[in-house]
Amino acid sequence: MLNELYQEIILDHYRHPRGRGELEPPKITQEGFNPSCGDEVILDLRIENGRISDIRFHGRGCSISQASASMLTEAVKGKTLAEAREIIHQVLALVKGESEGDPETLGDIVALAGVRNFPVRVKCATLAWHTLEEALNQ
Ligand code: ZN
Repeated sequence: MLNELYQEIILDHYRHPRGRGELEPPKITQEGFNPSCGDEVILDLRIENGRISDIRFHGRGCSISQASASMLTEAVKGKTLAEAREIIHQVLALVKGESEGDPETLGDIVALAGVRNFPVRVKCATLAWHTLEEALNQ
């Protein structure tokens, strides 16, 4: 389905998730659900001095949804809210096929571009990012 390199990167994040777990309070918790696949992603984040000082995820679902959440925690930890919003914007454009994304900024996330031809999978890949967007709007 996905090309091999992309598949390898996604499986690596799925099997060895970065940033998996929960934070102690004080924290912001945001739950996301993708009913079309049954994916659940719960983000715990802490914002200090305008930055995402820590972020973790937990939940369950398909490899793409969980790998995407793992990539998200790596990508936005330590970033300012404006930087995090910019990354969200780039990832959503990448996954929807509206842009190729910048490999320097996105790193492993470019592997999510592999889902763009599978509309059902796009929702799996974007779940964590929409959930973060909602958390930042709180
Ligand atoms: Zn899924």
